[in-house]
Amino acid sequence: MKSLTLFKPTKHIQLGHLYEHIYCDRVVEYLFDKNVYASVDYVLDGKMYHGGIIVVEFAAFTQEAENAIKDLLTLRLTINEDTMLNAWNQVESEKQEPFGHSGFETIIAELKELDNLSWQTFDKLDVINLNDVRRQSKPFYISTGKLKRTKSLFIDFYLDTTTVQKKQQLLPLANRLLSVIGLNTQYFLTREMGIYFDDEIMHYDKKSLTYRLKFKTYPELEFSDDELGDAISYVIKELYEGGAFERLCTELQSIPQSLEYWIGPSINWVYDSSYQVVGAKGWKRLATEDNVRELLYGIHVNARFGTRHIELLHDSNRI
Ligand SMILES: [Zn+2]
Repeated sequence: MKSLTLFKPTKHIQLGHLYEHIYCDRVVEYLFDKNVYASVDYVLDGKMYHGGIIVVEFAAFTQEAENAIKDLLTLRLTINEDTMLNAWNQVESEKQEPFGHSGFETIIAELKELDNLSWQTFDKLDVINLNDVRRQSKPFYISTGKLKRTKSLFIDFYLDTTTVQKKQQLLPLANRLLSVIGLNTQYFLTREMGIYFDDEIMHYDKKSLTYRLKFKTYPELEFSDDELGDAISYVIKELYEGGAFERLCTELQSIPQSLEYWIGPSINWVYDSSYQVVGAKGWKRLATEDNVRELLYGIHVNARFGTRHIELLHDSNRI
């Protein structure tokens, strides 16, 4: 496994926060276009440390993701009004506070300047001391006042009762499958809709298995049922066609050889959502593409946005 840790100090705290979101979105998009997928191939975590240091951590699990590592250091970002406003919506959704600014042009110019500043990597870094980072709140800052009321968006992926009862033995695999679909959906929707991922919950009660994603949103968010449905179908189809589930099976099949067991599924998480514990032998038997396909046919999706209930995927034509 290879990893990459990047640092960038900035005197503009919330502007740096915008930049961190634009950068992470770009990394995910870049990798998605190369058929390199979150949870299967890599994990990514971006943070804005209060006071002005951007930290991005990336860990590659597969050769596909390792090959892309060097590109992440020099990835060119598209910084314009669209990407800036999208990141703005994301941070507003995240913080649930209103933002003030000194003009879009100034924000874009400062973001470009930050983009021209090279990342510092863990292997070459001595120390960045927060005391040395001069802070300045403008041109993008949390303003006084209250944000208008926002609604949460919940997306539920679930296996119908028939699938749960007939395919009991496949539930641990369903758990991994739903996590992969969930994380990639999460990244995709964040980028497309300017929302913020808040939480994930897997719930199993012997009759059904539900995996819920919760997003925080911003006040003006609007979207149609079809837009949301199409986005989720698109992610599942891309994952399928881009070989994500194939690689997931290969990884699960080779857990004992890799010695990086922690990359594999958490025993607790699998147990809570299937009442089963699975060892290497079990994963070898369960992690097949036929089983993945069977499960995909049993997955349904619906959503709730405030009080609006949205029926999404209820057919088996997704793949
Ligand atoms: Zn953030």
